[in-house]
Amino acid sequence: MQIEVMQESRSLYVKTFGCQMNEYDSLRVQRILHSQGYALSSDMTTADVIFLNTCSVREKAEQKVHSFLGRLRHMKVERPGLKIIVGGCVAQQLGKQLLQRFEHLDLVLGTRGLSAIAEILETIQETQERLAYLPEEEASRHPCEPQALSVPGADSLVAPVTIMQGCDNYCTYCIVPYVRGRERSRPAEDILREIQALSASGVLEILLLGQNVNSYGRGLNDQTGFVDLLHRIQGQTDIARLRFTTSHPKDLTPELIRCFADLPRLCKHLHLPVQAGSDSILSRMNRGYTAAEYLEKVAVLRQTCPDIAVSADVMVGFPGETEDDFHQTLQLLQAVEFDNLFSFRYSDRSYVKSSEFPDKVDSQTKARRLSALQRLQAGITLRKNRLEIGSIREILVEGPSRAANGQLTGRTTQNRTVNFDGSKRLIGQTIYVKIISAFSHSLRGEPCHQQGSP
Ligand code: SAM
Ligand code: SF4
Repeated sequence: MQIEVMQESRSLYVKTFGCQMNEYDSLRVQRILHSQGYALSSDMTTADVIFLNTCSVREKAEQKVHSFLGRLRHMKVERPGLKIIVGGCVAQQLGKQLLQRFEHLDLVLGTRGLSAIAEILETIQETQERLAYLPEEEASRHPCEPQALSVPGADSLVAPVTIMQGCDNYCTYCIVPYVRGRERSRPAEDILREIQALSASGVLEILLLGQNVNSYGRGLNDQTGFVDLLHRIQGQTDIARLRFTTSHPKDLTPELIRCFADLPRLCKHLHLPVQAGSDSILSRMNRGYTAAEYLEKVAVLRQTCPDIAVSADVMVGFPGETEDDFHQTLQLLQAVEFDNLFSFRYSDRSYVKSSEFPDKVDSQTKARRLSALQRLQAGITLRKNRLEIGSIREILVEGPSRAANGQLTGRTTQNRTVNFDGSKRLIGQTIYVKIISAFSHSLRGEPCHQQGSP
């Protein structure tokens, strides 16, 4: 179907739930619909199209989607021309059931259907049909997507770039392989072209995204692996800073660890989800490493790149988790001293193996363990942040601070946020700051003229 590009006359409201992969997909949707005449709006009450990009990795995330959708019912009654679209993992998981449950919903778009959004939206606008579109494969170079060279985020200094979709690891608790499909890597040439285009449009920092970026390249014809990709980005693009997430500990190779020492534009931060500190839990999670192997990799990482920051995801309350298992997780946290940690209560998900496991941990125990773990980590994070006081750090100045107190904000290569008083002219520059105070989630600094001289 041919779609003509029109003047911007209609508005699109986008709400994203969940992870950075979803943020990236939402940017893609904005780009595609922008090219069809939709302007992004921050006002859902007047928007012509509302797009919800959803997450079903944890129960809580999914519940948020359901309650948000419920609240949209009255809008459809007041404005029948409004089109409400649900994309992402909940869409893929529930498909037609979502249409049945929410009668005001117009379109359910599976995780591999996003690039067809413009065509399908036009179809349902013409026919007034309600549809669930859940293709098995995504059209990689869809005519609606500008040469598949999606350049979302080109108006900011930091942009995500997806390098692979799906996951083949089948951790027993995880819904991702079922809703995002098998692992597929994007050709390196496409990725390099996208990064170069982003860099040319003013983006300074790229975040490479994938569920398990370490295994990038499997199934590609040109044999480019993740380490090769990093070297090619360093050598063949102008991007100033490069990050990536997420890495799987079992696939963290010595060659990848070396990149942190060898590639000057690769930021010194690794997100390495550990999930648990007990070997019996790790084995039942199908993670493919032991706690000792994890600790050994972190030790090598720190020997190779002493000022690297390490963060992780961890879960409490996996089926069968005993007090002793939980204490092993606390011990691992104490041994590693993560710079930052994302912690979750385990929840049963559709399709996943662990839903069938016996000895479910009750919700009170999960809550108690989570808060004990978070208290421990809060102390570690604050102590590590305080160690930064007095040091001189290079930051990329990203814009006004979130606190809206007139300060600017930037991040160190270790991914620590630094707020400081300074002129807006500094936005987009890499500057040195001296760290003068430390808080739980950020640092305070003052600009220095050059390294070592405040
Ligand atoms: N691919 C990454 C990895 O290997 O760790 C992360 C994927 S997942 C989208 C993000 C995090 O959600 C996981 O690291 C895990 O801690 C958490 N998670 C996944 N499934 C969960 C579940 N059923 N209950 C609670 N947390 C879960
Ligand atoms: Fe889920 Fe495991 Fe794949 Fe991460 S590696 S997306 S946790 S299955």
